[in-house]
Amino acid sequence: MTRTNNEPVPGNDPVTGDDPVTFSDLGLRPELLTALGGLGYEEPTPIQREAIPPLIEGRDLLGQAATGTGKTAAFALPLLQHLVAGNRSKQPGALVLVPTRELAIQVSEAVHRYGRELGARVLPIYGGQPIGRQLGALDRGVDVVVATPGRALDHIGRGTLRLDGLKVVVLDEADEMLDMGFAEDIEAILQATPAERQTVLFSATMPARIDGIARRHLRNPVRIHMGRARADSGQAPLVRQIAYVVPRAFKTATLGRILDVESPTAALVFCRTRDEVDQVASTLNGRGYRAEALHGGMTQEQRDRVMGRLRSGTADLLVATDVAARGLDIDQLTHVVNYEVPSAPDSYVHRIGRVGRAGREGVAITLVEPREHRMLKTIERVTKQRIVVEKVPTTADLRSRRLELTRAALEEAILEDDFENFRVVVETLTDKYDVMEVALAAVKLAHEASGVVPNDDEIPQITPAPDRESRGPKGAGSRPPRPPRSAGAGMTRLFVGAGRSAGIRPQDLVGAIAGETRLSGRDIGAIEIADRFTLVEVPESAADEVVTALRASTIKGKKATVRRAHEDR
Ligand code: AMP
Repeated sequence: MTRTNNEPVPGNDPVTGDDPVTFSDLGLRPELLTALGGLGYEEPTPIQREAIPPLIEGRDLLGQAATGTGKTAAFALPLLQHLVAGNRSKQPGALVLVPTRELAIQVSEAVHRYGRELGARVLPIYGGQPIGRQLGALDRGVDVVVATPGRALDHIGRGTLRLDGLKVVVLDEADEMLDMGFAEDIEAILQATPAERQTVLFSATMPARIDGIARRHLRNPVRIHMGRARADSGQAPLVRQIAYVVPRAFKTATLGRILDVESPTAALVFCRTRDEVDQVASTLNGRGYRAEALHGGMTQEQRDRVMGRLRSGTADLLVATDVAARGLDIDQLTHVVNYEVPSAPDSYVHRIGRVGRAGREGVAITLVEPREHRMLKTIERVTKQRIVVEKVPTTADLRSRRLELTRAALEEAILEDDFENFRVVVETLTDKYDVMEVALAAVKLAHEASGVVPNDDEIPQITPAPDRESRGPKGAGSRPPRPPRSAGAGMTRLFVGAGRSAGIRPQDLVGAIAGETRLSGRDIGAIEIADRFTLVEVPESAADEVVTALRASTIKGKKATVRRAHEDR
């Protein structure tokens, strides 16, 4: 992470261990510190360390950061701090613009959690939700509005969202908003805000168009972007690096399954917060592992006890936060697991440098939520190392792996050749049964004694979305439509009765779908625009929702027929 155009921030890099910076070092109010402590956050992420002090000072900021870096708290905490310092009125003091309804809800929940002790009133507004409910809340008075640009503009037009009291405007995931065709809406909204407002722009990528917005609307901004990994010397060549893309709800089941397949001698599992450490450790214990939790909320004595159990082999898994794991040196580690994507490439490099030492092979496993896929790419780019995305093992994979372990254990026993006590059992049984049957029964018992495959639900296999640069929607309108073909796996094609002659562009559809449903732009597949109609691929599981939502709304100001496409055309 590098920051330019500003004074250095006090304290330093958690990776190298110099003077760790705490949230209170950053100048945050006590109410915010209490909220963060309650959430189990132990220390600011690099982007928070860099962004919070200048934002508290009132500077504008242009930040390059993907989901997973902690960027939401980086802009939300200073914004909440300002709101309290200023006069709270009925009109919102902060407006956060986000590309999708899903993000509007997530960000507003996060702002609400951080601002709980301050009694902050936060309202998400997005398409697809009854406008009446939003009107009521706006009328009662809110401090922070988190909105998708289309719906925000609606309210501004109706006079129900007043921007004259705004002190801060945040553009979150700005590149995604531009991809969805919200550029004009954003310009119009910014024009309607007070000139002396503070403006914050976060974007995962920094194409020229983002620079354009920054030049027009940000005043002498502090710039923050991902720099080089400084700890690259810690990277061991023997580390096998893999990642699994899984929805949040399936993470613990996935972790259990991966550990079952990998059967590590000793593993260190990293989590972001104290609560997660406790929850993951207890789930793993429930699955038969001997897992120990280690976090900053524990006393030195408790920590020493945990480390003792790990060294003596009474525990085989350690679940820890970065803070708690700092300075730990565990010789026998074979696996490092990132239960969550680390908040910066440096931190990734530092974590995985703990395995593969002294010529031993090590494995680094990262669980990635679909939205965090971009962060994985950033880590790959900065570390110049490939992280292979693998399929989550299925229960069938698990069974065959368990059988493989049983086979290996039997082979080992054969080589040991220490059977005297058992010979009589086999001899009496072979009087009555075939030797093959006796062997099969013995294998079955040995296998069952080694544990049963837990009856988890099937975990969905997610293929990460291709990068923005290679995606269909952007610019797809200039290509002639491909001949009809079947939709991709898990996807369904929808027919929309408006096409090129109605001026439809791919971003119009992406914007309409992402604005009105829980899908984000990345969930939408190929878009084929013909003269009079458009075919758009959406996940099968969301197809009905999309059809209903698009029928209820307009595309480019017009109603259009929307239905499932006939695949046999
Ligand atoms: P974001 O990049 O803003 O989407 O944040 C990613 C995740 O990190 C969210 O689940 C946050 O709750 C969590 N998070 C943000 N900051 C911290 C922190 N300082 N310590 C632990 N977790 C954090």
